[in-house]
Amino acid sequence: MSVACPACLAPGPHSVRRRYTLDEAMARYGAVVRGSTPAETAEKQERLRRIIRERWQGERVEVQECERCLFWFIVPYVDGGAEFFALYMAAPHYPSERWEFGVVRDLIRHQAHSSPDHRIRVLDVGGGDGGFVRSLLADRELVERVDPVVCDFSVTAVERLQQAGIEAGVWTPEQMLANPRLAEKCDFVTSFHCIDEIADLDALFAGFYGCLRPGGSLLLSVKNGVSEEYDERVYGITRMPPLFITNWYPSSIRAIAARHGFEFVDLRFSNAKSREEIWNAARQRAFGTKSFTGPLMILADRIRYRPIRGAIKHGLSLMMWPLVAFGRNGPPPSVLLAQLRRPT
Ligand SMILES: [Zn+2]
Repeated sequence: MSVACPACLAPGPHSVRRRYTLDEAMARYGAVVRGSTPAETAEKQERLRRIIRERWQGERVEVQECERCLFWFIVPYVDGGAEFFALYMAAPHYPSERWEFGVVRDLIRHQAHSSPDHRIRVLDVGGGDGGFVRSLLADRELVERVDPVVCDFSVTAVERLQQAGIEAGVWTPEQMLANPRLAEKCDFVTSFHCIDEIADLDALFAGFYGCLRPGGSLLLSVKNGVSEEYDERVYGITRMPPLFITNWYPSSIRAIAARHGFEFVDLRFSNAKSREEIWNAARQRAFGTKSFTGPLMILADRIRYRPIRGAIKHGLSLMMWPLVAFGRNGPPPSVLLAQLRRPT
């Protein structure tokens, strides 16, 4: 099937890089979707299979690569949809800190210094249960200076935020733009590891743009496409649809940002030699099908009690740490962070 590149609109045909089947997607996501009884689990897995088949209009998808901007995207170009996210993210777990959170906190701190009378409005799109905004509120310098809002697709995550007294909602980009507290009100819009799960990028980028004040900044982080290719080649890890539907490269971020009127400010990669990156790579390697710990990780996933499951996975990852830390060819940086600006 020939389609235009969703990032830069280059017309097809594009080259086909991967093919995935419904059975492969079920092998990846079926294990995560569980009920409290075997019958309930079977029912949920059947529902998952039906959702994916409907989204894909069949039992297979392919991944195409745009020659112009290097973007990888699935065809048919669809994401998991609300029903998939609700089922898959019923008990979501989010990181409380990331490398890019620190970088963005510094940018916000800088703005707080340069405009001392202004309360800084930060909208985090796809913010989960608020790891990033909680880190702002835990910062003594920033807690009185920021006014954070979170949008996420997980009802569970949004409820957790509201219970903590943080403004949050499950909103579409159109609903964000219709909200007078958001439209043209935000000094910063952030979105960490979200754009690779959403198909309607044009609506999403229009939402980012329209929520920013003129001169406001959009900070986007996403897994580095080169790192995803490496993980697959070396560790045997595929970022399977319907959750992950795209691979991003600097050229694809620039292409879609320019189409939506953003000014390009900066793009940086995480430091592949940092302790955090090495630990992440060790975890990736432990999960990979090309590693002897891969099958053990799958067994560990069946343990329902999170502290024990976490401890086993942690132990298996620790075994991989020296291989990554002292290996000959280290992995590439795993994260891309782009800074874009709405022109004044
Ligand atoms: Zn393209």
